[in-house]
Amino acid sequence: MFKSLKFLLNYAEFISGSTSMPNCEYCRQPATLTKEHLWPASLHKRLYAINQQTKNIFWLSRLQRDIPNEPQIRDVCAPCNNVTLSKLDDYICKLFDSTFKNIVERHAELVFEYDYHLLKRWLLKMSYNSARIHNSPDRGALECVLPYILGTDLRMGRSIQLFVQLVHPQEISEIEANKDGDPQKKILVEPSIHRLGHVIFRAHGVGQKTLRAIHLRSYTFYLAYWQPNGGRAEQNDFAEVFNLGMPGVQLLRPSDQKVKLFCDGIGAWDSLKDARNARFSSEVDA
Ligand SMILES: [Zn+2]
Repeated sequence: MFKSLKFLLNYAEFISGSTSMPNCEYCRQPATLTKEHLWPASLHKRLYAINQQTKNIFWLSRLQRDIPNEPQIRDVCAPCNNVTLSKLDDYICKLFDSTFKNIVERHAELVFEYDYHLLKRWLLKMSYNSARIHNSPDRGALECVLPYILGTDLRMGRSIQLFVQLVHPQEISEIEANKDGDPQKKILVEPSIHRLGHVIFRAHGVGQKTLRAIHLRSYTFYLAYWQPNGGRAEQNDFAEVFNLGMPGVQLLRPSDQKVKLFCDGIGAWDSLKDARNARFSSEVDA
């Protein structure tokens, strides 16, 4: 409670502009700000190294020509960046080495082991960084849970649900990826691109809901935002409908450390294609 109050006071100071130093976008304290890339260097190094081994340089290199340089963030103080948030990056690198580095084959069954809060806080941190760069509509919702992202109030995370879905490699004809490609030639597209975006989920009885999506190789994570202090019934109803409407999706729960997953959700090419139409929107590819 005290920490939440302190956060609000810091926020009030930020609003009143009572200091001439810029404020950190996480702790809201005036500070000298640091510069970093959206994707943490430690993770990016791993992703870069593993993508050098991909069998699909052809389509990957073509796709990357459309991708702008990786954006930078310059509004976080050193203690937040190098201590609090960097612990989340360390956890994700560990999870990358044990789990994300492997491309999951279609129809594979596996047990995904995770630390619920470290994983969700990292996904929210990435979303918040991306939302500031792109001025995304969920920026306000993410600001509401800053104490959760910083680990000072874990209860505040209850207003956000976390889902996971496995993306499988998908065979397509070469011409689908490249208009100069050979229509007779088949290529296998693996889910090797990491990116952030949004998904608009529409379902009868639920209406339309915009979710944050974070794609990390075979794993796609979805964050669903709810009103702070709202009832659980609405969240439970949504989880049921989302689970039925999105193949292979599983809700992750803070009380669990593992979940059984079946890899038959969405194909890697369909996932990328959907990111470019109205139903799914992608903010960043890297
Ligand atoms: Zn800070």
